[in-house]
Amino acid sequence: MNLADDLYRETILDHYHNPRNHGKIAEATCSTEGVNPLCGDELTLYLKVRDGKIEDIKMEAHGCSINTASGSMMSEAIMGLPVSEARKIIDTFKAMMLNKESQIELPEEMEDLEALQGVKQYPVRIKCALLPWNTLIEGLESAEAEQGGVKK
Ligand code: ZN
Repeated sequence: MNLADDLYRETILDHYHNPRNHGKIAEATCSTEGVNPLCGDELTLYLKVRDGKIEDIKMEAHGCSINTASGSMMSEAIMGLPVSEARKIIDTFKAMMLNKESQIELPEEMEDLEALQGVKQYPVRIKCALLPWNTLIEGLESAEAEQGGVKK
């Protein structure tokens, strides 16, 4: 256990114990459920998307620390962004998690998410970390369908 691992663990536990943007959105554009049967993680993601922008995101997560922390960090990273920007963040995060060879440095606005790289040594937990993100991809698709397609 080195210093970086300690910092990573602290960041994950902080988001686990105090999940950001936890709860429901009363007037959500859509809500999407995600399940990871391998670990028993479940979450419901609420999105409010207007004019191609994510105005609000909230989630109710019942899962392990990795799943809850990943969702919490994700909500902070994409809150208020245009959908196109959010998709770039999703791609960057997934590329980081699926690259087992090396540590990837993330842009500053995604800094907390680097903490989840420690999870890469445990293949089963990678699914826990990715669940909120895969649920978000589905959510964005149904939000856009709800709005009658992508606005350019
Ligand atoms: Zn899990």
